Amino acid sequence: MSLVPRIHVLSDGLINRIAAGEVVERPASVVKELVENSLDAEATKIEIDLVNGGRSRVRVSDDGCGMDADDAVLALERHATSKISTADELDHIATLGFRGEALPSIAAVSRFVLLTCADPAQGGVRVTVEGGRILGADGAARARGTTVEVGDLFFNTPARRKFLRSPETELRHAQEILWGAALARPDVAFVLRHGSRVLIDAPAVADASQRLKDLWRNADRVIAFGATAGEAVVRGLLAPGGGSGRPSLTLLVNGRAVRDRLVVGAVLRVLRSAGSGFGGARVVVDLRLPPDEVDVNVHPAKAEVRFSRSGSVFALIERAMREGVAASQGRVEVRSLEEGWPPRGMAEPQAGGYGEMIRGRQAAAGGGALFDHPAYGEVSIGTPAGDPWEGTTWRPEKDHPRVRSGARAGAADTPFGRLIGQYRNSFLLLEDDHGLVIVDQHVAHERVLFDQIRRRLAGGEAPSQGLLTPCLIEVDEAHAAALPGVDFILRKVGIEAELFGPETIRVLSVPPEFDEQAVKEVVEGVLDRATALDGVPENASQVLEEELAASLSCRGAIKVNHRLTIDEQRVLLDDLLATDNPYRCPHGRPIILRLSQEEMERRLGRR
Ligand code: ADP
Ligand code: MG
Repeated sequence: MSLVPRIHVLSDGLINRIAAGEVVERPASVVKELVENSLDAEATKIEIDLVNGGRSRVRVSDDGCGMDADDAVLALERHATSKISTADELDHIATLGFRGEALPSIAAVSRFVLLTCADPAQGGVRVTVEGGRILGADGAARARGTTVEVGDLFFNTPARRKFLRSPETELRHAQEILWGAALARPDVAFVLRHGSRVLIDAPAVADASQRLKDLWRNADRVIAFGATAGEAVVRGLLAPGGGSGRPSLTLLVNGRAVRDRLVVGAVLRVLRSAGSGFGGARVVVDLRLPPDEVDVNVHPAKAEVRFSRSGSVFALIERAMREGVAASQGRVEVRSLEEGWPPRGMAEPQAGGYGEMIRGRQAAAGGGALFDHPAYGEVSIGTPAGDPWEGTTWRPEKDHPRVRSGARAGAADTPFGRLIGQYRNSFLLLEDDHGLVIVDQHVAHERVLFDQIRRRLAGGEAPSQGLLTPCLIEVDEAHAAALPGVDFILRKVGIEAELFGPETIRVLSVPPEFDEQAVKEVVEGVLDRATALDGVPENASQVLEEELAASLSCRGAIKVNHRLTIDEQRVLLDDLLATDNPYRCPHGRPIILRLSQEEMERRLGRR
């Protein structure tokens, strides 16, 4: 396909379909637009030179298709683009740029020089623009490709110039943009210079994992993760930072670097529960979705997208990353995990698409060479026919007040390996291909209860059992007075309590899996916190709910020194696997310990 421009001016109707807005906000946005143009022009090497954080100069040079003299001038007209011509094409955008407004917008607020050449035999052209006015277009020598130089950004709009930050800050934004571009296109070489300093020198490579190492020299270890669900493919890389710095995320959606607050949230959640060593981590998430499931046209600089099934997308990312992290920590590899899609508790209205059922490995859809890494494809998330986890959600049973029993006697294995049994009535022992797996039964159960309580807090129905004889709690007056402020939270988890005199609280019903003593302690704890907070301010109720979930699950969980039948052990492991994070308890304590065969042999002097 020849990308030598056949430029035309967009129709008014089409212009109106395109969200209006300013493209140029700061030097980084100039970098972004120019680099995207170079990529669209099929450049194999892009060099970026910044002076003064880009405030004084941004120069982007490529070896792409270039433009002939006519097109070079036309390219500076608003809504001139070679990339789309009909409204229909707007829904199937494959190129990065498509609005035809970047060059004219940038040229309007800078001293601008475009030097380009499509065919060295015919020579190149240099177009000089100042504040949007074309000063001249002259023949000039150049190899095939394009150089755009943007000097004195906002020189003629002092109000906007005032909003620029320090050169260091502007440089950081520009670097961020280049990280996104460079990770999206490891097959293209990138060089970034700031003055005479070379900040990025990344040769073309075969995969993003190598690119990440070239970009980030701290990254000696890169963890790959991935998940597939029908046509939705998540692939990611994580370079643990070790420090306590802010983690940073590069999110690519269908090859485009974008920002998304919710994905950032999901990533941070995983890093936080992964424990120390993941502080200043660098994360790259590459998400592939069918084009009609993402809307890229919501932001003038195309920096944000809208997902048509966002909940499922976030859950898929979170799940994949959690498993990648867990596997890297050598704890448990959940092999051939088959998980319901959409994840449980999430309604998925449409049939078909990536809601369709898949089983086993799924080839990455449309991924090209990007992210080709042997570790990819390890995790495959799909919806097998007949949800294998059906019936494993917590349902309190009468015969055992705490751990659900029965149900799966026939199952030979557990998801964590072959169950050997219970050690000292406290730990479950399992073996798998790699060694020994030890599960702390108390913490495991705590995690199961925690997830369940959180689900209830999130709006589910809380089962509650009336007590034959209501349980009375003696408190002081301040605590009693705090009850009306928190009883709605208690009710959400199935505890019904009321005032019974100035210093007495009467508990009428409790969640079926908790005994009176546990409930008593938990109610006291919540009242303690509410009194300390002096009532429950709007924003504290969430904190209280989390605390309540954590303390209820801790108090309600089976303790050590508690015998479990083999069936109960199995059910606990199944339930554990179905939680958000089978590897850490709500307080961050590990649940599962692995002792690899290798380590055993080493310690026993066999190696
Ligand atoms: P858009 O990228 O949205 O089409 P731009 O204003 O960024 O709009 O660019 C206008 C046109 O100029 C592009 O459609 C393309 O034809 C041409 N162009 C811009 N930059 C380059 C480049 N680096 N190499 C070749 N052609 C380019
Ligand atoms: Mg463009």
